[in-house]
Amino acid sequence: MMRTALAISPHLDDAVFSAGGTLARLAAQGWQVVMATVFTASVMNPRGFALACQLDKGLAPEVDYMALRRDEDRAAARALGIDAPVHLPFREAPHRGYASAPELFAELRSDDRIGANLADAFERLVADTGPDLILAPQAVGGHVDHVQVVRAFRGAQPPLPVLWWRDFPYTVRTAEPKEPLRAIFAHLPEQIVRLDAEAGRRKAEACVAYASQIGFQFGGPEGLRDRLAAEDGIERFHLQGRLPPDLRDAGFA
Ligand SMILES: [Zn+2]
Repeated sequence: MMRTALAISPHLDDAVFSAGGTLARLAAQGWQVVMATVFTASVMNPRGFALACQLDKGLAPEVDYMALRRDEDRAAARALGIDAPVHLPFREAPHRGYASAPELFAELRSDDRIGANLADAFERLVADTGPDLILAPQAVGGHVDHVQVVRAFRGAQPPLPVLWWRDFPYTVRTAEPKEPLRAIFAHLPEQIVRLDAEAGRRKAEACVAYASQIGFQFGGPEGLRDRLAAEDGIERFHLQGRLPPDLRDAGFA
């Protein structure tokens, strides 16, 4: 029977940036790979900081920014060789009261009660997909959307094993990235996955598919290439539970 891996991505790009090579390797091994992104809701007539986040990517106010990003995500999934991605209908932080870039990396707002809704959605997603392996973020970098996902997902008590990824590009942007949830993961063993040439190529192609993010995040495709190269063809996780033994042949050292 075909086995299923479920990747829980906060934003449209996180799973690919952080674990795309692993997803490509799993697909090449015959796994079904479901990439589900949490914050993908279109919000019409954005204002204030939310609008600024769109304008600074060179997109006019009337453009459906999230529809464009969902299309990028579909292209990225094709590049990885995985199933068409799943898009959950939750609003990104700038649409939940976070009003500036620093606020995106500060404390959770007391009126941001999205966690309970996320936990419900995760339980349903796990029930629908029946995953044999889950991949999810550690919230390295401390983005409030990533923190909400980790907290809610843990609260939903997912079946094991879970590979918790280190959130790229926060991992390479500063020497000591913020890790607000470090205590949750510190005791779990580290698991590395080596990307073969094919997985590395697929990951690079999938990352470039997020064209609206590349300039803002990396200053362009060359910057992305340099940042990816800094990861040395390895993706790093903390492992909760036990991996299926046959994955050792698939680069899981
Ligand atoms: Zn993100």
